[in-house]
Amino acid sequence: MLDGGGVPDEPAFICDLMLQKMCRWMRMAGFDVLSPKELDDDGLVELCIRTDRFLLTRDKELSDRKMIRALRIGSEDVDGQLKELTQAFPELRGRSRASRCPLCNQTLTIVDRKDLKDVPDHNIPEKVLQYQRTFYLCRNCAKTYWKGTHWVRIEDRLKAHGLITEEMRAAGTEK
Ligand SMILES: [Zn+2]
Repeated sequence: MLDGGGVPDEPAFICDLMLQKMCRWMRMAGFDVLSPKELDDDGLVELCIRTDRFLLTRDKELSDRKMIRALRIGSEDVDGQLKELTQAFPELRGRSRASRCPLCNQTLTIVDRKDLKDVPDHNIPEKVLQYQRTFYLCRNCAKTYWKGTHWVRIEDRLKAHGLITEEMRAAGTEK
């Protein structure tokens, strides 16, 4: 499990299993979010206490536990969920963070195309290498990302919720 690298005074989170998709979106916006699949409710509570994280859950019984800070998410779709998040934590809006790997929570490193030779087995398709100059590398799970149309659509929605800034959008794009 990975930790650290978040905005200093910003809460770190844990998402329950029902909020896996929300977890991936939050990581793209740079939030420090764990989502351990192997833990039951008591395990999640214990992890929240031990790591001083805020729990996001769809489970009322879990969100009512006294020993943890938790927010019950009612919405089933990501837009509704992100809206609930920003209503509960308005201070999360309008701040820049480094994007994190949606799969493992590691902060992504920006890598220029010419430096990809240092990244063995990156598996980036040849045609992507021709038109993308900037790539994002996860140094934990070795996955590589780039700002294709999918990423841009994700950024549009995160921007609409105020969860990424223009500065974040501009990072690593052609000057
Ligand atoms: Zn990763």
